[in-house]
Amino acid sequence: MLGEWVIVTPKRADRPFQEQAKECPFCPGQSETEGEWDVLTLDNKYAALQAEQQPIDIDHELVIGAPAHGFCKVIIQSRDHNEQFENMKDSQLNKVMGEYLRVTEELQEQRGVEYIMLFENRGKAIGVSLNHPHSQVYALPFVPPRVERELTQFKKHRQKYGNCLLCETIENEMKSKERIIREEDDFISLVPYGARLPYEVHIYPRNHISNLLELKGSLQQLGSMIRDVTRRYSNVFQETAYVMVFHDSPSNGKRKDWHFHVEFYPPWRDSSRRKYIAGIEQGGWTYTNDSSPEEKAKELRMAL
Ligand SMILES: [Zn+2]
Ligand SMILES: [Zn+2]
Ligand SMILES: [Zn+2]
Repeated sequence: MLGEWVIVTPKRADRPFQEQAKECPFCPGQSETEGEWDVLTLDNKYAALQAEQQPIDIDHELVIGAPAHGFCKVIIQSRDHNEQFENMKDSQLNKVMGEYLRVTEELQEQRGVEYIMLFENRGKAIGVSLNHPHSQVYALPFVPPRVERELTQFKKHRQKYGNCLLCETIENEMKSKERIIREEDDFISLVPYGARLPYEVHIYPRNHISNLLELKGSLQQLGSMIRDVTRRYSNVFQETAYVMVFHDSPSNGKRKDWHFHVEFYPPWRDSSRRKYIAGIEQGGWTYTNDSSPEEKAKELRMAL
């Protein structure tokens, strides 16, 4: 009824939670993590998508089921079980960003990949099964609906006004600065004007850059912007929990209109109370935000 795909993976129900697992499988010296490494990318053992499945043309209107073709990677971001983003050293941060770029480039070469989504799930409140610092990459055989919707908005705006939606947003936000959290030479972080969640934060490159590959020269600064957001979160929340997603340009063709950005979705409405995604949000995809983005931006600005 929605014209969107669901990835059905009954086998993933077996994946471990750390309370059950005796030792952390991502700490050095385990069967998958032997040898020398600083950042390590593995195939997800409990992958939702399988490379050995044959990709088929799923855009055809008669296709309602398809093999779950794609790639699921896990990027272990440090040897140290406790080196989360908020306390990560510069040198390690650079290695993590470099690996994000390398994995993205590698997966873009694979056939049947339409979109690469890189994300980090963090904290018990998000349902994270392993605490060791790690992020994940899904290389999908389709462009996911949320990205498709943003792409449509980018295109509409360009057709109507002749410029980029995000470039214009940045220009407007820089006038009042009331929702800005941090400004650097190449990036800004802010609580968006239309934040769906109280502590939603976006990081935007200040120049029109469509994807991670074009960001090569300022990857280091992107890393420190990410660390900065997570530090603020860990000072404000009793439990550091968030979802971080890279909104990179779709892999094929449609790059020019896209403006790369990173989005954070924390599950909190204040320092310890949950924001629930309930009736109006789930039933209507309409969000109620009972805080003001300007106040939350101020709170996050003051958090460091
Ligand atoms: Zn560990
Ligand atoms: Zn732009
Ligand atoms: Zn986005």
